[in-house]
Order: sequence, then structure tokens, then C-alpha cells
Amino acid sequence: MTTTDDETDLAMMHRAIAAARRAAELGEVPVGAVVYRGDEVLAEAHNLRESQTDPTAHAEVLALRDAARRLGTWRLDGCSIAVTLEPCPMCAGALVNARVARVVYGATDPKMGCVDTLHELCTDTRFNHRLVVVRGVMSDVCGALLSDFFAARRKGDAPPKPGPKQGRTGEGEKGR
Ligand SMILES: [Zn+2]
Repeated sequence: MTTTDDETDLAMMHRAIAAARRAAELGEVPVGAVVYRGDEVLAEAHNLRESQTDPTAHAEVLALRDAARRLGTWRLDGCSIAVTLEPCPMCAGALVNARVARVVYGATDPKMGCVDTLHELCTDTRFNHRLVVVRGVMSDVCGALLSDFFAARRKGDAPPKPGPKQGRTGEGEKGR
């Protein structure tokens, strides 16, 4: 049971996109997420994997942590999350663990997407919790954010990848 409607989902996706843009400005892969309940924003975050040198610092995980802290419980019953990119296996798993009610995502991820594309972790009936999935919300804008970011990086006009503060020896042209 949620009181969320399409208009709220769209408004929250706009916020998630704004967060993703902030990530791109930092040289982070632009993915943004917003956790909300009804019309109330509980947390928003963007990918910080490079800045925090943390493989788990995906937008969804960071937003879930903030929302849980704010609510004072790890159970995010009745909450929705809007995220610009289809969640990966880690994040889809985190959404199930957090008992999030709904996931609203933009672009599909052919390489890591585990809500619909490679696996269906958010709707697998063998788990003890399932989410309502709303897919493809502003997917063109969300997808363009990513393709523009990688195109700019290839051309060399994106902000440099923020590496660990200790220096960047050994970091080659790995890209993503
Ligand atoms: Zn993820």
C-alpha cells in the first residue's frame, strides 16, 4: 500500500536526474537516486564510487542508508525509490533487504541490470519480500546522461576521474 502516484514518481525522477548531474560534475558515473514516502523526500544521493573509493557507494545504497538513518529503522516499509538506472545485483538486493515497497527506474542496464534485464531480483517470489517495479520513467533522459558522460570522457573533456586522495599512480586509461 502506497499513496504514491505517477506524478510523484515523475517529480522524484527529476530529482534523481538532478543528483545524477551532480555526480557527473564530480567525474562520477551519473546515477542518482531518491528515497521517498508519499510526497516526502527521505534521502537523495548519487554515485560516489570513485570519490569514496568504495565499490558499494552506489546511489541507491547511499540513499537507503540515509533514509534508514532518518527514519531510525532499517525497514523502509511503504517507501519508494526513484533511480536513474536499473539497479545492479547489489542494489536490487539492498532494496529487497530494506523492504522498500516500490522501485521506479529510468534507463535499463544491459550489463548489470538485475530488476528486469539479467535477473529479476526485485520480483522473485522465492525471496521474503518483493517490490512493485515501475520501469522506463524518463529513460531517454537518464540514458542520455550516461552516454553523454562516457562520450565526453572518451573525448577527454569530462572532469577527470576523482581518484583516491593519495595520488593516482597506476591509474591507466581503464575507463569503465
Ligand atoms: Zn548498484
